[in-house]
Amino acid sequence: MTIQQADLLVTNGIVLTMDAEGTRIDDGSVAIAGTRIAAVDKAAAMQDWTASRVVDACGGIIMPGLVNTHTHAAMTCFRGLADDLPLMDWLQNHIFPAEARLDDKTVYSATLLACAEMIRSGTTTFCDMYLFEDAVARAASAAGVRAVVGEVLYDFPSPNYGDIENGFAYTEKMVDTWRDDPLITVAVEPHSPYLCAPDLLKRAAAIARRHSLPLVIHVSETHSEVAQMQQRYGRTPVGFLAEHGILAANLLACHCVVLTEKDHQLLQAHDVKVAHNPESNMKLASGIAPVPELLQRGICVGLGTDGCASNNNLDLFLEMSTAAKLHKVNTLDPTVLNAEAVLRMATIEGARALGMDQTTGSIEKGKSADIIVIDTRQPHLTPMYNPISHLVYAADGSDVSWTIINGRVVMEDRRLCSLDVETVMADVERIAADIASG
Ligand SMILES: [Zn+2]
Repeated sequence: MTIQQADLLVTNGIVLTMDAEGTRIDDGSVAIAGTRIAAVDKAAAMQDWTASRVVDACGGIIMPGLVNTHTHAAMTCFRGLADDLPLMDWLQNHIFPAEARLDDKTVYSATLLACAEMIRSGTTTFCDMYLFEDAVARAASAAGVRAVVGEVLYDFPSPNYGDIENGFAYTEKMVDTWRDDPLITVAVEPHSPYLCAPDLLKRAAAIARRHSLPLVIHVSETHSEVAQMQQRYGRTPVGFLAEHGILAANLLACHCVVLTEKDHQLLQAHDVKVAHNPESNMKLASGIAPVPELLQRGICVGLGTDGCASNNNLDLFLEMSTAAKLHKVNTLDPTVLNAEAVLRMATIEGARALGMDQTTGSIEKGKSADIIVIDTRQPHLTPMYNPISHLVYAADGSDVSWTIINGRVVMEDRRLCSLDVETVMADVERIAADIASG
């Protein structure tokens, strides 16, 4: 027997690989060498592996880290600031004025808080749209979290870059800065069809094409948005994007709550990816995205939390539970969107939505080691007939005991290793005190 050397061995758990076959390995182990998964198998078949560090999953679940396909991470500093309001009132009268007070430093601090929350609830990759997005990239990098980041682009002057010309320059500079980074992927992120003129959208799409980057946008979030687009352009938001050549396989359309039959056909024909944010859509009373129909058409749908001001947490376990139940009650059919389909949305399908399914989203040899361990020795997870059922219907983010991203242990038995969480919380409390004082 030749000894095979790994850096990290995660053992003694049920491995849910989330690969194409949905392979489950009871009493399995995962060997990690450097940043990558070197082997995954039954513990008995991995006797020849040794590692400098061993993580005991204590009979729990070993699975890929979760992928949050839509966040505004720095909005943690607005958590609970304004609730129970219509979207446009909430956005125009509460969120935009508060955002006008942000800067690079506050976005950095608030994003670190978001990263702490995500690591502690098992999210290892997030896709973000915000202002001062380079600060988001630096915070995610410091926290050791994988992130797709893009500066929000729109027609009016931005508190960060001012005129849109500078917005494109800021985006191009980020592409340069983060090229080949192991954790950070830059995306081009026009806000939405209703806040971006056709020229802006076309230039954004061209930059994304030139650098082979994801293009991320809010689409058809509310009925009033669709009515506004119909009035202004005589098109639905999806129809408008199609008209200007924006629909493509690298486009991630966030929300897609209000869709016509023709919109469905267009999304499918262009292989557009969708980010589903059920809790935000519920809280803002936007509506219910037709996810079962999208999935039936083979459209890739990932799960997202949206920002903390409209959710108000970043816990994808709670989002999974909500997604599964929302579509059942909406269709009065309990067989719709089963637990496995939801878990795939939060892992491998989320990765595919971001164009990162070759990197993350499943436990397979050669992929980046983005892995979490769930502690199932707890009253609310006992007994366990079916691990997938527990993950979607019984667990929450606080059941995650270990989080490993790109081979690095960022949470060890609930203790954050990459961040000083007390300092991070204190920093955001200071920002909040300033916001509250007006
Ligand atoms: Zn959003």
